[in-house]
Amino acid sequence: MNEWGNAALRLEDYQDLHRASIAEPERFWLQEAARIDWSQAPTRGLDFSRPPFARWFPDGMTNLCANAVDRWAARRPEDPALIAVSTETDTERTYSFAELLAQTTAWAAAFRSLGVGVGDRVLIYMPMIAEAVFAMLACARIGAVHTVVFGGFASGALAARIDDAAPKVIVAADAGSRMGRIIPYKPLLDEALGMADHRPHKVLMVDRGLAPIHWAHHDIDARALVEANRHVEVAPVDLPSSHPSYILYTSGTTGKPKGVQRDTGGYAVALAASMEHIFFGQPGGVFFATSDIGWVVGHSYIVYGPLIAGMATILYEGAPTRPDPGVFWRLVERHRVRAMFTAPTALRLLKKEDPRHLTGYDRSSLKALFVAGEPLDEPTSRWIADSLGVPILDNYWQTETGWPILTLCRGLTDAPVKPGSPGLPVYGFDVQLVDEASGEPVPAGDKGVVAIAAPLPPGCLTTIWNDDARFVRTYFQSIPGKMLYSTFDWGVQDEEGYTFILGRTDDVINVAGHRLGTREIEEAVTTHPAVADAAVVGVHDEIKGQTPVAFVVLKDASRAGEALSQEIIQAVAREIGALAKPSSVNFVPALPKTRSGKVLRRALQAIWEGRDPGDLTTIDDETALKAVLALRRAAAKD
Ligand code: ATP
Ligand code: MG
Repeated sequence: MNEWGNAALRLEDYQDLHRASIAEPERFWLQEAARIDWSQAPTRGLDFSRPPFARWFPDGMTNLCANAVDRWAARRPEDPALIAVSTETDTERTYSFAELLAQTTAWAAAFRSLGVGVGDRVLIYMPMIAEAVFAMLACARIGAVHTVVFGGFASGALAARIDDAAPKVIVAADAGSRMGRIIPYKPLLDEALGMADHRPHKVLMVDRGLAPIHWAHHDIDARALVEANRHVEVAPVDLPSSHPSYILYTSGTTGKPKGVQRDTGGYAVALAASMEHIFFGQPGGVFFATSDIGWVVGHSYIVYGPLIAGMATILYEGAPTRPDPGVFWRLVERHRVRAMFTAPTALRLLKKEDPRHLTGYDRSSLKALFVAGEPLDEPTSRWIADSLGVPILDNYWQTETGWPILTLCRGLTDAPVKPGSPGLPVYGFDVQLVDEASGEPVPAGDKGVVAIAAPLPPGCLTTIWNDDARFVRTYFQSIPGKMLYSTFDWGVQDEEGYTFILGRTDDVINVAGHRLGTREIEEAVTTHPAVADAAVVGVHDEIKGQTPVAFVVLKDASRAGEALSQEIIQAVAREIGALAKPSSVNFVPALPKTRSGKVLRRALQAIWEGRDPGDLTTIDDETALKAVLALRRAAAKD
């Protein structure tokens, strides 16, 4: 049934395959389960006796670290596994699978020496350095549950996660570095520990020598402890498939972050399958995801996915534009990168630069570029496709799902890429576009909430950490009367099943009774060639209910002015209609974004409506927000 090979798939063949994965999920996933090593192979695919909770491979026993590291260390010990590159500290080091195994085992022994065992939480607050990966894999090895908190999150955000996950041990480093600027982590961590109610047993500090460490009584030098534990045997612990592997908090774009809990066996199978069917996986190849280990892309496609597939993975500490905007492509050339994964926001940054930064390198090893995290606008998509000459595969998913919901799977080489759409529902995901009030499917061409019928496939969240009730209430009860998981995104599906994401359900604005997605208006704004980036929010209006307001970053800031403003408004009128015309176009140096690169529309909207912008603990660059505040004050005076 699911013999894909790498041969070209016709659209109809894929659709048959997808249907089979939905009609007979147990059968489909038991076959896929053979892609990983089990200490006890599962005989059952799924236990769905307590919906919406799905337990995949209920009688299987396995270990994530064994699949990511040990099995390749046994077969191909000298092959590269982890390539740690930092353009911040100008260092690069490659660890073979054998070396990765040795490091991970020593870290596992170090954790054990502190009393960390199966089910204990370990919070990892680290920059993009190899030790962060060793620590994650070491947790998986001994059945501890890691929770990685994006390095450089402010103390408030960190404290909230410390209290929620209640870690026995915290692993941190002296500092991170960003655009050449040292960011000391220790003071932030100490401040967070002062705010939190929970007390960890110990804090392991990795001293990179970037910032002085003020040692507290519970702090331990990580490298010394790991050295002392070298050569201690720690076998991977056999774990039930449903054993929690990690907790990861969502970005908090729309509200209080949710502690997404993931299992062990289902996650390993989902990743192994996705590397094969989606991400051009190949043992011995090199994978380069430019994300951060603090995000879901980092968990799935920097750490676990590529390693489970026997690939080397690049861990990159640095910016897309420093020391120069050619740095990504230089890494592609040097390491013969096979597949790359980045975010639209990075591409928009590069698009503003001289094209020679891209064309000057040998990119012949590259088979595909994957992008996810936010909508990929058409001009950026076209630019990067023309520049690279390889397929650009947009994939839509969420922290919750752990791997793509929508994309064009590998093999669908003849299926057209439709700009603005990530593609088709991925095998295993029963994607339905439904009416938000009735839960009934909407016809092709109509806007609906993107929902997924339960059970969610392997790899998706199994619950919210410590809060089963919130899991059920948040995701499965927002659409009435149906056992449907809500993504809280709007979409529209065409006759061929391609889905277009129109924005978040709370990003729809109501202009004089017409519902408009802010995403569509943003797309129209970015069709103007002078525009580099744009955000549109709905702002309260006495007469129309709401009116769109645009925030625009220009390629050349000196062009800002009334004439350009009018051109942009006309572009919207032309693309969508007069109704969607922004009531104002505001030129800003940058858009306020979360640390994961998502536009903080709710903050823009609040500021423009004169309200408090709310929780900003996840914001990336305060100056972007300050510029908006200043504009608002100036506008209010007029
Ligand atoms: P929170 O749920 O805490 O508000 P978040 O939704 O920003 O945070 P993530 O799980 O990182 O946290 O982001 C998932 C969301 O990102 C999706 O629901 C969708 O809105 C958007 N997204 C991801 N990939 C794409 C894509 N390819 N095209 C369009 N939107 C995307
Ligand atoms: Mg979300």
